Amino acid sequence: MIICEFFKEQLIVIAEKDPERRRNLEQFFLKQGFIDIKFAPDGDKLYEIIKPYHHQPEQIGLIVINEELPQCQIGEICTSLACGDNKFIPLVILRNDRSTHTINKFFSGKCLVYDLKLPFLASELLIVVNFLLTMKHERFLRYVQEQRVVSNFNERKVIEAKLKFLATHDELTGLLNRNAFEQHLRLKLNSNSDFPCGALLFIDIDRFSLINELEGFEIGDRLILEVVPIIKKLIDENVHFARIGSDEFCLLLHNKSEFAAKDSAESIRKTLDDFHFMTGTACYSISVSIGIASLKMSKLATHPGDLISRAHRACQIAKECGRNMVYEYCEQDKLIKERHHDVYWVPLIREALQINSFCLDYQPVVRLSDGSVSHYEVLIRMRSKNGEIIGPDNFIPVAERMGLIHSIDLWVVENAIDFLATLADDKSHICLSINLSGIAFQDLSLLPTIKHKLLVTQVAAERITFEITETAVIDNFEQTRNMIAKIRALGCHFSLDDFGAGFCSFNYLKKFPVDYIKIDGQFIQNLNNDETDQVLVRSMIEIAKKLGKKTIAEYVECPKVVIRLQEMGVDYGQGYFFGKPMNELLTENIISMERLVTDYGKSIQQIEETVLH
Ligand code: C2E
Ligand code: CA
Ligand code: CA
Repeated sequence: MIICEFFKEQLIVIAEKDPERRRNLEQFFLKQGFIDIKFAPDGDKLYEIIKPYHHQPEQIGLIVINEELPQCQIGEICTSLACGDNKFIPLVILRNDRSTHTINKFFSGKCLVYDLKLPFLASELLIVVNFLLTMKHERFLRYVQEQRVVSNFNERKVIEAKLKFLATHDELTGLLNRNAFEQHLRLKLNSNSDFPCGALLFIDIDRFSLINELEGFEIGDRLILEVVPIIKKLIDENVHFARIGSDEFCLLLHNKSEFAAKDSAESIRKTLDDFHFMTGTACYSISVSIGIASLKMSKLATHPGDLISRAHRACQIAKECGRNMVYEYCEQDKLIKERHHDVYWVPLIREALQINSFCLDYQPVVRLSDGSVSHYEVLIRMRSKNGEIIGPDNFIPVAERMGLIHSIDLWVVENAIDFLATLADDKSHICLSINLSGIAFQDLSLLPTIKHKLLVTQVAAERITFEITETAVIDNFEQTRNMIAKIRALGCHFSLDDFGAGFCSFNYLKKFPVDYIKIDGQFIQNLNNDETDQVLVRSMIEIAKKLGKKTIAEYVECPKVVIRLQEMGVDYGQGYFFGKPMNELLTENIISMERLVTDYGKSIQQIEETVLH
């Protein structure tokens, strides 16, 4: 019988007091090829030898022990080798002839023990040793396999549990995530009562992105982790608390009146207003903006997401109104309506820019001295999917609020210059006046776009006038003045639109390099009947003249106003009386005032006749 090579590297302990038997056993094992053999004449020594193998008992190949080993209780040894990882150490117990113990030739389920009666044959020992070592090896392999399965199983269980948790919770804070929160909200909305009582709070940390930018995301995360327990302390346990965005949280307050919900929101706001966030190098004053949507109105909400959006909108308004405040959602609220409007229009504007569904109308501006067309004002429109033409008042204010106006301004500039470039030679005298938004000059690509477009189209810069409003001028006085100077240096002209509508017009006009001023239509429409308008318009004309600027009157709607404007010395007129904005230019370059007046008289007469009959 040959013993496997692999077993021969393992330790063999011979626990035998009798030196001769010890030697014989040593000879036996050496002959079989074992190389690591240790001796223990008593129990203490045996303990000393096996102690270092505590963590790797599988490295002990086998112990041969005499049942009469001094300082040793063989029963105890068997017990200790039957438990834990020791169950891999096989034991050959040498029994004396006079032994009262029953001879057990067994390898129990617990420990590998073989009783060998003295004296025994070497061949008998060889069979026992080989058998025990093989058993031990198999048992160990099975054990390793089992352990692997168990640990895989445990790991899988842990991962499963973790995934289950993460499916409904936010990883950073352990709060509910948006999905889980919406589910709770859905349950609440579908509850039996017709009008579920309670409110939804949308909390957003003010200037969180600034802290993130200045201090990094880790500090940002720390701030979130510090804010959460502060809020938790202020709310009941049954409140559903979720983190639904980086610094956005939602609370579902059950069974609370609107008044009580507002109270809770205020206490959260106030508490966080007193909180200071320390980073080690800096200390930040923290504040939050909170939007509230009452569940009472939830019957109008078809989806929990609708209710969250309402609270979010209210929160956005709280931010726009200066932050660190609580704002309640109300369908009739003017600011809320504006938000609704924005949410509706923003995707339409984006799409219009993408699929090029904006178009331009042109309205003549006429010299009041002879009725000749001086230039056309370019006015943008949007073409809807069903072909309807939509006026700029619907989308320009939204685009200004939502940061889309720069793209619109650039689109108009490029398309208006292209339009001039495509005109026939006999129309090369046509000039255009292009509206720019209040914040157009914050867009650094405006100047290079104008330059580039004029260069490639070879359109003379003098054919372009830009109309800007007072607000643009006042908001960024220096920047705007510099930009105007640069664009004028190209040869373009400037016009101050809606003049008189603001409060500081005269003051700014003094310092502003514009060529024309356009008197706001509200002073012109009723000029004939309103003496105050007459006084104001007269003074505007006087100032403009003193500063060497030309004047344009908007909203000229009837011949009587034309006559009065001429009499007052206004240079140009624009309005429905001369021509409405159209998608093409007039065929004639001069508008016959006499004809217009006659036509106007006719149409008045027609109206009167229709009314009389
Ligand atoms: P605005 O620059 O003061 O333009 C004059 C507005 O008065 C135009 O309205 C025009 O159609 C209207 N209008 C002209 N004559 C009369 C009249 O006799 N009576 C009355 N009641 N209205 C008259 P529109 O086209 O709806 O434009 C409204 C505003 O939208 C413009 O006011 C301007 O602020 C802005 N806008 C228009 N086109 C553009 C554009 O291309 N870019 C930018 N940034 N804003 C534009
Ligand atoms: Ca204008
Ligand atoms: Ca205007």
